[in-house]
Formats: sequence, structure tokens, C-alpha cells
Amino acid sequence: MKLEIIDLRVEVAGKEIIKGVTATFEKGKTVALMGPNGSGKSTLALALAGHPKYKITKGKILLDGKDITKETPDSRAKNGLFLSFQHPQEITGVNLSTFLRSSLQNVKGKKIDVMDFHKLLKEKMAELGIEEQFKQRYLNVGFSGGEKKRMEILQLSLLEPKYAILDETDSGLDVDSLRLVCDAVNKVKKKDMGIVLITHYNRILKFIQPDQVHVLYKGKIVKSGGKELAHEIEENGFKGYLGDE
Ligand code: ADP
Ligand code: MG
Repeated sequence: MKLEIIDLRVEVAGKEIIKGVTATFEKGKTVALMGPNGSGKSTLALALAGHPKYKITKGKILLDGKDITKETPDSRAKNGLFLSFQHPQEITGVNLSTFLRSSLQNVKGKKIDVMDFHKLLKEKMAELGIEEQFKQRYLNVGFSGGEKKRMEILQLSLLEPKYAILDETDSGLDVDSLRLVCDAVNKVKKKDMGIVLITHYNRILKFIQPDQVHVLYKGKIVKSGGKELAHEIEENGFKGYLGDE
């Protein structure tokens, strides 16, 4: 069971950003995708999720052997792929619980009874230590950075995808919020998911242990290694892996 990216090239606004990336993400394993700002990490994530602006010009994506390169974002989600955004959207008029129920119904492809859903939601919120009052609030409106990230992990734990790509789940969080978010990720991680943790800091990797680390730079993987690579990067920065600095 794996998510494979084979020689992927991605263009955004007419410019090639991802320049031939090959990587494999296995179920049950956590891979950290690191790299300085502007390396193309979010571009790769959005292309994997099927964002229409991020055009795959070459290569393919296989999800458990199935070619999803040309599938819609919706179909990718139904096949078990989940992306948490670097910048979660705020939606006035839609409360968190309505949003989560419709997203779960969409992924499962069937209606879910309101009472059943609320029972499930209550369980998951308790598991992740999220207060009940959030259910009624408009999605992400007025939420702190840390709260938005935790709501994404709540969505993740409800959807139970096979593969989850978490884009800068650590960005903008103070240490306490980071710990809460990481605890939440570690809880859902137990469900045998494949996790791709995108980050440009090592600090999240203190809380969530990666099995493998890739460094992306200028649209290419320039270095791969085990978790010790993340420690090396913390000590020395990305210099030395980038080739041109
Ligand atoms: P990272 O997530 O590693 O910081 P990004 O994938 O966000 O990097 O950005 C990589 C490059 O792609 C940057 O030069 C960025 O300006 C460009 N890029 C990303 N998204 C867009 C977009 N929607 N329109 C134009 N350029 C984009
Ligand atoms: Mg990014």
C-alpha cells in the first residue's frame, strides 16, 4: 500500500516549479518533506491533491497502484488522499459541524445520519481535546492559527484517509499549540495512515518522528535520508544540500 509519485513535473501560472520528483509514501509511515521557502513544497502538495491551477505536465501519481494523475480532487479524496492546507479557508455562514459532515458524506459517498454523525464528532473532538463550542462556530472564522490547524486534524481524524499530506501544520504556532497539534497528529497516525509532513523547520519533527526525510529544493529532491537528516538540518541549516550556496 503506497502513494507513488513518478518523475512528476508541475507547472503553475506557466512556470515549471516541480522538476521531476520521484518519491514513495507508504501506509503506516511518516515522511518529512523539508526545504527552504519557495522550494515547491506546497506546489507539490496541491498538485497531488489535484488543484486545477497546478498542472501536471509529466509523470504520474499512483495511489495503491491506481493512476490518479488525471482524477478530480474529489475523486482523489474518495480514493483516500487528504491534504491539510498551509492556509486554511475561513467560511462565514457554514459551521464547523455542517462542514465536517458534508465532507465526510462526500468522501464516503453516502448520507450520514445526523445523530450518528454528532456521536462520532463528539468522540473525535474529545479524543483531540477540542471544546464542543467549536461545532457551532463558522468554519475557521476568528480561529487562532493553532485552532485552525487543530480543526484540520479533526477533519483528518474523521475522514481517516489512507494518505495525509500536512502542509506546514507547524507554521505560526507557539510551542503549546504545536504540542496540541502534534499530539492530535500522533493520535490519528496510529490508524496506519501514510503521512507526508511538509515543513521547513525541524521543530515539529521533535514531536512527530519521521521514518524518512526528503529535502526539496528548486523543485527537486536534493537529499533523502532517515530522521538523522532532520537533526543535521537543524544543526547546519539547508546549506550543503542545496548545491548552489
Ligand atoms: P514552498 O511551499 O516550498 O514554500 P511553493 O510551492 O509555495 O513553495 O512555491 C514555489 C514557487 O512556486 C514559488 O516561486 C511561488 O511563487 C510559485 N507559486 C506557487 N503557487 C503559485 C501560484 N498560484 N501562482 C504563481 N506562482 C506560484
Ligand atoms: Mg508552502
